[in-house]
Amino acid sequence: MDKHLVIAIDGPSGAGKSSLARRAAARFGIIYVDTGAIYRCVGLAAWRLGIDTKDAEAVAALLPSLDIRMVYSEAGEQRMYLGGEDVSSDIRLPEISICASNVSAHAAVRAFLLEMQRKMAREHSVIMDGRDIGTVVLPDAELKIYLTASAEARAQRRMLELQAKGIDSPFEEVLRDIELRDWQDSHRAEAPLRRADDAVLLDTTDYDFDESFALLCGIIRERFGLAE
Ligand code: C5P
Repeated sequence: MDKHLVIAIDGPSGAGKSSLARRAAARFGIIYVDTGAIYRCVGLAAWRLGIDTKDAEAVAALLPSLDIRMVYSEAGEQRMYLGGEDVSSDIRLPEISICASNVSAHAAVRAFLLEMQRKMAREHSVIMDGRDIGTVVLPDAELKIYLTASAEARAQRRMLELQAKGIDSPFEEVLRDIELRDWQDSHRAEAPLRRADDAVLLDTTDYDFDESFALLCGIIRERFGLAE
């Protein structure tokens, strides 16, 4: 890829951002940056130490001691390291989702992780997903997409994803978790989840994965003038 591509994807939990972005990155030969994974590392670190993740001061005090690294394999897969330990699986545990959402509401945490994310986009062509990528992290991204779907559709997909990993969670519980995170992510004072004015809206409620992927690729090709 000769062009420097910077694509920002934001949207609520379970909209399919990470699976779609990962596949688009492979399709266009660029790097997929999952920023939620970085917040999950902070959430995991606090959880392991028994720190109240809603306590802004306690979480801020933890930050200087954290060594969080994003490492990419040859195949372009992102692995997360916390203090040298590969925590890529642990950060996906359902209890860590809420911890990540809690710590991500603190200004100190967002400031601590900002440069790490910007550096990736400066040094590589990226498709980066999160909640505030188009609004705060990469406000100059050439393409911004706001990817969403109804809460029920997202809960259904997340439940199947968890089942595939052998984690059985009832639909109501998954839906409640999604609605709680939606509310927290969009009502917080710091970098709330919202669609950037110049973001393209992609609502995947009525589309399956392949249809959503085709739509996403179409938007990317059109914006960057790329051939089929
Ligand atoms: O995307 P994922 O569900 O892994 O993100 C975990 C949590 O991290 C989200 O609920 C959200 O609160 C937070 N997050 C954020 N900003 C980002 C990415 C994730 O606040 N750019």
